[in-house]
Amino acid sequence: MIKFLTYLVLSVVVLSGLLRYSLEFESAQDIAIEQVYRAGMSNAANGLPNPDSLRVFVCGSASPLGNTNRAQACIAVLTPSHFYVFDSGAGSTANISGAGLPYARLQGVFLTHFHSDHISELYELNLASWVRGRPKALRVYGPKGVRKVVAGINDTYELDVGYRVEHHGSDLLNPKLAKLKAETIRTGVVLEDGDLTVTAYAASHAPIEPAVGYRIDYRGRSVVISGDSLVTADTRRIASKVDLLLHDALSLPLTEAATKAATTAGLTRLAKIVSDVMDYHASTESLIDLNADIDAGIIAFYHLVPAPANLLMSKIFERNLPENFLLANDGDWFELPSDSAAIIHTSN
Ligand SMILES: [Zn+2]
Ligand SMILES: [Zn+2]
Repeated sequence: MIKFLTYLVLSVVVLSGLLRYSLEFESAQDIAIEQVYRAGMSNAANGLPNPDSLRVFVCGSASPLGNTNRAQACIAVLTPSHFYVFDSGAGSTANISGAGLPYARLQGVFLTHFHSDHISELYELNLASWVRGRPKALRVYGPKGVRKVVAGINDTYELDVGYRVEHHGSDLLNPKLAKLKAETIRTGVVLEDGDLTVTAYAASHAPIEPAVGYRIDYRGRSVVISGDSLVTADTRRIASKVDLLLHDALSLPLTEAATKAATTAGLTRLAKIVSDVMDYHASTESLIDLNADIDAGIIAFYHLVPAPANLLMSKIFERNLPENFLLANDGDWFELPSDSAAIIHTSN
């Protein structure tokens, strides 16, 4: 047995060495890159498999606080005939591309508020879906203020749109589809699209006013996406019996330790900023309290404050969490088959 294992390990080492060596040759590089591109593009061309499920993809799990390679706030929601994105933080478009999500059928973006970590890749999302053949202008739903944000982005990238149309031709890239369309929403039902309903509710993220979170319902399944917010009576109401609650979450032990370290190091500006954020994000303790009241399926933390950079920080973030809690990571999927109680969670 030991002999066999030794041979096995040696074979693996020799084979991986040979593979690495073969990449020194241009012909081997050409064959390998063709296979890599083919695999990636067939994924993008085929879109997703088509079970009748509400599917949720974590395209960004970080807040601005923390030093990691996680993308900032972004959650994608898909069914066989819907594709919406909720917030578009830095780095999130690369995650959407990497997962091969079907850009051409992206229908809209819902914004929770206009902090930069929720809107910074709006144009990237617009561009990626435009060049892949999205048939309608991309709608951007958000509370009061969304028109100003969208007008600014359209203005900023007007030259970029012009260059691309001139280069590729307006038959391929229709300039009318490159302009984002703002839709100002209030709390209540904001979209009914076949069997999918999106409802906005008031978030508590002072001094940002208004800020909202969203609930999505589809064929007996439900998801709440909090955006940035404390836990309030509105959270309790909207998240009652929800299948999946994705909530902004702050670890007090981590933020307190960071504040203390910054103060000790004389970084008073940083210490002030880190301690300021504690009053407008939901602490893990407040979310554990919420869990006792709402009978949710899974409570997944995203918009992690701070985003954990290592196992130690994750362990501290996860202190005292009940079994139905988890820390979301970029690339996580949650699949909620229609008219069922199942929640299938897969990680990268
Ligand atoms: Zn915010
Ligand atoms: Zn934020």
